[in-house]
Amino acid sequence: MSLFITSLNSGSNGNCYYIGNDTEAVLVDAGISCREIERRMKRLGLLMGKIKAVFVSHEHSDHIKGLPVLVKKYQLPVYITPLTMRSGRLNFEESLLKNFIAHEPVSIGGLLVTAFPKFHDASDPYSFIVSGNNICIGVFTDIGAPCIHLKKYFQKCNAAFLEANYDEEMLEKGGYPIYLKNRIRGGKGHLSNNQALELFIIHKPDFMSHLLLSHLSKNNNSPELVKELFNAHAENVKIIVASRYEETEVFRISLNKSVKEIPVYHTVAKSSLQLSLAFT
Ligand SMILES: [Zn+2]
Ligand SMILES: [Zn+2]
Repeated sequence: MSLFITSLNSGSNGNCYYIGNDTEAVLVDAGISCREIERRMKRLGLLMGKIKAVFVSHEHSDHIKGLPVLVKKYQLPVYITPLTMRSGRLNFEESLLKNFIAHEPVSIGGLLVTAFPKFHDASDPYSFIVSGNNICIGVFTDIGAPCIHLKKYFQKCNAAFLEANYDEEMLEKGGYPIYLKNRIRGGKGHLSNNQALELFIIHKPDFMSHLLLSHLSKNNNSPELVKELFNAHAENVKIIVASRYEETEVFRISLNKSVKEIPVYHTVAKSSLQLSLAFT
């Protein structure tokens, strides 16, 4: 039992993440054109018809640029909050418009999508986890600071797209104006390599198999540098850098059989749950 994931594009020029099972999939964000989504999906052998819904994290253009055409052309339900709709000046057919509420899972066929709030300079920003087939995938980008929710949800993930936006020294020494530097690192902008690494080292579950470093800055980061940084602490986790120019391959995420704790944990959790129910 597996889920299949890919980043169709990742970075300040556009974000679009695919998570699916054998028959259904969701997209998180559509920040590249519909045509480019189609082209990249085709190259990967993924069918547009599998996409059953699109979830929108926030209204920045690198997350919504392709949304109007995609939603209209494929008549896709779009899960978006009213504040994000308004701030993004978006408009969709009433029948396709869906809301979501933080921490309340939305069921899309065999997939469950759960949103949770994050620190970012947008009107109503969220991160998501998508689960199905006993696998959980996180989509964690555009995060000013790691909050308790992020830490909690990261611990559930078999694989995650995790923002590693900038190298602190490159940002400091680079040519960005000071207001922009402060926007990026000021707690409601983006996650630095070191912040992402700390989250990974401290909160990575034993069963995590893939980490896709995402939303890398073009000017304040380097794919080689960040990969090397994470590889030094990766243990059994495969580290991938999601590109700002092309799609990644499709990764099949399955239960990590080498981790003995999983079945033991489930047995204990189930029997203690039954025990507590029996006494209520
Ligand atoms: Zn972004
Ligand atoms: Zn953003």
